Amino acid sequence: MTAVIVWFRQDLRLSDNPALYHAVANNKPIIPLYILKESPNYEWQMRGAQRWWLHESLISLEKSLQAIGLKLILRRGNPEQVLDELVQQTKATSLYWNRCYEPHTITCDKAIKQKFKQQGIEVESFNGSLLFEPWTIKTQQGNVFKVFTPFWKACLAAPDPLSPYPIIQRPSAFQGVVQSDVLKEWLLQPIKPNWAVGIEQTWQPGEAQAHKLLEHFLAEGLPHYDTQRDRPDQEGTSRLSPYLHFGEISPRQIWQALQGRQDSTKFKAELGWREFSYYLLYHFSDLPKEPFRTKFKQLAWEDDARSLKVWQQGRTGYPLVDAGMRQLWHTGWMHNRVRMVTASFLTKHLLINWREGEKWFWDTLVDADLASNSASWQWVAGCGADAPPFSRIFNPIIQGEKFDPHGNYIRKWVPELRLLPTAFIHKPWQASETTLKNAGVELGKTYPYPMIEHSKARTRALDANKVYNWAHNKNGD
Ligand SMILES: Cc1cc2nc3c(=O)[nH]c(=O)nc-3n(C[C@H](O)[C@H](O)[C@H](O)COP(=O)(O)OP(=O)(O)OC[C@H]3O[C@@H](n4cnc5c(N)ncnc54)[C@H](O)[C@@H]3O)c2cc1C
Repeated sequence: MTAVIVWFRQDLRLSDNPALYHAVANNKPIIPLYILKESPNYEWQMRGAQRWWLHESLISLEKSLQAIGLKLILRRGNPEQVLDELVQQTKATSLYWNRCYEPHTITCDKAIKQKFKQQGIEVESFNGSLLFEPWTIKTQQGNVFKVFTPFWKACLAAPDPLSPYPIIQRPSAFQGVVQSDVLKEWLLQPIKPNWAVGIEQTWQPGEAQAHKLLEHFLAEGLPHYDTQRDRPDQEGTSRLSPYLHFGEISPRQIWQALQGRQDSTKFKAELGWREFSYYLLYHFSDLPKEPFRTKFKQLAWEDDARSLKVWQQGRTGYPLVDAGMRQLWHTGWMHNRVRMVTASFLTKHLLINWREGEKWFWDTLVDADLASNSASWQWVAGCGADAPPFSRIFNPIIQGEKFDPHGNYIRKWVPELRLLPTAFIHKPWQASETTLKNAGVELGKTYPYPMIEHSKARTRALDANKVYNWAHNKNGD
């Protein structure tokens, strides 16, 4: 019987997986495939933390498929060539996948679809990753939204997202021999030095764990989400972002779990920001590299490799910034409020191009996602869609006092400050010598002085490059 290749990408799950579901429904023997894409010149290839996650996620997917009698085939290389070989080797007559929305992937997918259709292969793609696909939401005039609130209102007024697909039953496996790579040989995870120890201790990738986390969040987190979501010292958010990125859970499954919950408006809106990011990336494919508000192209950023490194390493002398950057390095994740503060610090206090921050997050986040990362960096830098003006500069001291009022987040990630009284934990340089001494802190030795004074940085950011004028230019785009 002719087989169907189910090409897994950012949908590493069995449940609510439309491509897999339709393959099973068609009752054809299934060849599940994952391709490690190799496009040497592509800037946004998977990097460190994502590769770590992918390794674990593929092990988990492999096991789940095995349990229903299917064997995951692993191949690496150029997807079009890999698929070509596999079609020839297996004589498969159908190819199914769930859609991705990165511009580079869209281009490749179009070419693949065209090529295989010409060869008489049935090629079908499905929506497995979004609640509302980008081309389905338009203004009343048929234009693209550039502001979140009306975009989200239009989404909520649109037909409800489909319900998740039912669990698949008794798939039939392809009986031929198909060669597969050995996952370990892909070297997705570090060996020496193993920088991923903290990531290993923090995360357990895979579909089952995604659902466990969701259940836990629905019971413990959601009722307090509105008030706790900005608190990095609390477990106030779902931590589902890497699972969503790799498609170990689908937004439709989350959406369905939220039905009937009166307390879910804010959380749904955050899923909405994810949708908006994908929407922007789809309609403005330059989002990862060009400022959405084009006037920002003229901004003369500082070329300051030393300060960039200090920021990356969490040694800026601002405890909240340093805690965030260290949490990121250690766990591959950072709380959203602190992502905003650290991103603002890089782009405003240090006047370093948001693209440098975008790249660092791309390397280090387990949830690194082209849409959400580029849209969010542009938003904080002030050049993005619906972004506040450049003049909105987060004060890392006030942010710390407000959102980590007892200093517990700092004590966890900047342990050299843990004995400082709470009153000084977000501004150790204001503590008396005795207080510092009693806490075992020696500024400049055990913990740095602020690399730039806040009000000076703020003035510099507003003055420099005439940004101040742009921010007040009503005609600015
Ligand atoms: C500079 C910067 C870079 C970011 N880079 C990424 C990234 O690469 N990948 C990523 O998934 N998110 C990114 N975000 C958005 C946000 O910080 C994370 O999605 C969130 O912290 C994930 O934690 P959570 O799952 O506990 O979120 P929750 O608060 O539980 O939210 C639930 C889900 O909604 C989505 N979401 C929440 N907030 C946002 C947002 N502002 N934008 C887009 N989606 C959102 C995520 O999928 C998240 O898992 C970035 C934010 C900033 C400020």
